[in-house]
This record gives sequence, structure tokens and C-alpha cells, in this order.
Amino acid sequence: MLLCGVIGYPLNFTYSPILHNTAFRNLNIDGYYIPMRVPEKDLVEVIRLLKILKFSGFNITSPYKVKIIKFLDKLSPTAEKIGAVNTILFKKNKLFGENTDAYGFEQSLCENNIEINDKSVLIIGAGGACRAIVYVLNKYKPVVIYIANRTLTKAEEIARKYNNEAISIRDVRGIIKKVDIVINATPIDLQQRIIPIMKNGAVYYDTNYCYRYFKAKHIKIINGISMLVHQAARSFSLWTGRNPSVGIMQEALKEVML
Ligand code: NAP
Repeated sequence: MLLCGVIGYPLNFTYSPILHNTAFRNLNIDGYYIPMRVPEKDLVEVIRLLKILKFSGFNITSPYKVKIIKFLDKLSPTAEKIGAVNTILFKKNKLFGENTDAYGFEQSLCENNIEINDKSVLIIGAGGACRAIVYVLNKYKPVVIYIANRTLTKAEEIARKYNNEAISIRDVRGIIKKVDIVINATPIDLQQRIIPIMKNGAVYYDTNYCYRYFKAKHIKIINGISMLVHQAARSFSLWTGRNPSVGIMQEALKEVML
């Protein structure tokens, strides 16, 4: 049996098992994807056990996407540049780190016809998700990318790498009013505070997918489902060597989200 899963803490809620287990069934693969709530003190030991149990790999989520890097043997060039990992493969007994969040985010931009060139973008949050998103945004030619975070030093560290602008959370209101795209890369539901003051025709992109989303006439709202499905599909391909149907994964989510 092919085994994989996701490690996080507290890992209160995840749709990943639905996505991966649907893909296993659909492709007739004898596989199973398991959510694992692992406190930091047990992280290394759990990874050691997964290796013994011959897991193909696992996803790693908040709060470990950056912290895990020091335990890995090798990173893909993308994960290296981003400085965060969400997918780990056991390869010849070695731990290999990849970042499929970046791929998932970029696919979601295409799927939703979001243009980045010549646009001004604000990202709120400076954790693992932000790192992958900023990497993708900087492949294009936006006018400006602002990064705001509760802990300003983390935003500064990411902004410095790409020559973007870190801003204090205290200054964020003024920026929200003028930018073309606002991306929420925190786990907090910020819609109430952001959407009413955004300019007409702007885009609000939320990396989250479990909130009740606003309906707004003056802006476009995108949630994190598309990014989630595409990053999962890419991780699945890395572990199994097979390409799952993104459509079937999306359908499975729709059923549980009704
Ligand atoms: P993370 O590495 O733990 O970072 C969390 C970020 O949110 C940090 O910048 C943190 O600020 C900020 N934050 C947390 N609580 C806050 C609060 N109460 N007030 C203000 N800021 C707060 O997590 P992550 O991996 O970046 O994930 C962030 C969100 O993106 C999560 O909700 C996750 O589900 C979502 N996500 C979605 C996808 C997808 O495929 N759709 C993929 C990845 C992540 P500090 O630095 O000050 O602590």
C-alpha cells in the first residue's frame, strides 16, 4: 500500500485527505493519505517512523513549512528559492523537500484569469504560504508588491529577498484602498476589514477556503480552493508518478462543502 499524509499542528481542519483519497480511488491505486497532528517535540521522531513504515512522502503544513528545512537532505531549486516546503518525498532513504504551493497558486491565477503584470499587490501574512506566493508574483512584472505582517521582521526578510516593500500592519489600511490585488495569507478571516474599503474592480484573494465568503459587486473574490486542489494534484504526482484528475478532486470537495 502506498502511504502518505499531512503533518501539522494543531491541524484543526484539512481537506487534503478528501482530495488525495479520492485521487487514489479514481486511479485504482491502493493508497491512503493520513492527517497527522504532531507537536514540535515529536516531529523528528514521527518522520523517522514514517520512513520505517515506508511512506512515499507527506505534506507539511503550518507551522512547520520553514522549520522542517533543517531536517531535510535535499531541496528542489524552487523550494530552495522560496525557503519553505510543503511536500516531502522519501527518496532512497533520504528526505527531499519540494514546494507545490507555488505551483498551486500560479495555476489558480490562470484558472481565475488574474493578471499580475502592471498590477499593484498587497499580501498580508509572511508565513510559508506568503513565501510561495511572493515567489510566483515576482516571476511577473507587477508595479509593486507590498508585504504586511503582524511580525514586521518576517515581512522585511521576504521583501528584502525580492526587492519588494515590507509595511507595518498599522499602515495597511491606506494601501488596501489603492492596490489592485489584496491577498490574505494569514489564517484570519479579514474580509470584513478589507473588502468594504477596496477600490472598484480590484481582486480579493484569500488563501483560506473554510470561511463563508462575501458577495461583493465592486470587486472579484477568490478563495483558496483552486490553489489547494492544484498543489495537492502536484504533490500526488510526485508521490505516485501518476497525474490525478483535478476535476474529480474539485468535485469531491464540492460534495463535502455543500
Ligand atoms: P504560517 O506559516 O503559520 O504563517 C501564518 C501567518 O499568519 C504569519 O504571517 C502570522 O503572523 C499570521 N497570523 C497568524 N495569526 C495571526 C493573527 N491572529 N493576526 C495577524 N496575523 C496572524 O501559515 P501559512 O502556511 O503561511 O498559512 C497561512 C494561511 O494560508 C493558512 O490559513 C493556510 O490554511 C492557508 N494556506 C492555503 C493554501 C491553499 O492551498 N489554499 C496553501 C497554504 C496555506 P506572525 O508572523 O506575526 O506570526
